[in-house]
Amino acid sequence: MRILLAGLPGSGKTTQAIKLAQELNVPLIRTGDILREMSTKEDGLGRRIKDIMDKGALVEDDLVAEIVEKKLAEMGKETGFIMDGYPRTVEQINRFDPEFDVVFYLQISEQEIRNRLFKRGRFDDTPEIVNHRLKAQEENMFDVLGYYKKNAQVHLINAERTIEEIHVEIYKFLQ
Ligand code: AMP
Repeated sequence: MRILLAGLPGSGKTTQAIKLAQELNVPLIRTGDILREMSTKEDGLGRRIKDIMDKGALVEDDLVAEIVEKKLAEMGKETGFIMDGYPRTVEQINRFDPEFDVVFYLQISEQEIRNRLFKRGRFDDTPEIVNHRLKAQEENMFDVLGYYKKNAQVHLINAERTIEEIHVEIYKFLQ
């Protein structure tokens, strides 16, 4: 099964994606990790990605779409997977659509996002960068969800609960 865990930064999608991938024993693809790894390279591309990520902006649609398409091609068509971080815009879907069977959207209020991100304290979690990330992503996520409501099974999940409660709900949907 092809599963997308979507949500704004701080919604807990990565925590849930890791847990679910372990439980189902399927590959996990996290674009944030792939891009962070690329951003450590001392070449033009690495520096460009680092610049964008440092600002909390989105990396170019065509680049991310290409990375994901390649990754899935390498894994083979029939493999199920869990995706965390892609797509973030409809333009990315137009360039490459992983054709998810199920999409989970972890819903959370803006105030709770801020609380969680400041606690997490990653280098790109400063108030200014968080605000930028949120603004860019809220707008796009609405459109991405709209697309998948027509093209996949979409489940909205209340993400202001414990990790275990959310995990159990997601797991039950998949049975
Ligand atoms: P994440 O760990 O998913 O919050 O991603 C961290 C950062 O990686 C984001 O703020 C973006 O700069 C970049 N990124 C991850 N996935 C994508 C994507 N699908 N499109 C564009 N940028 C992305």
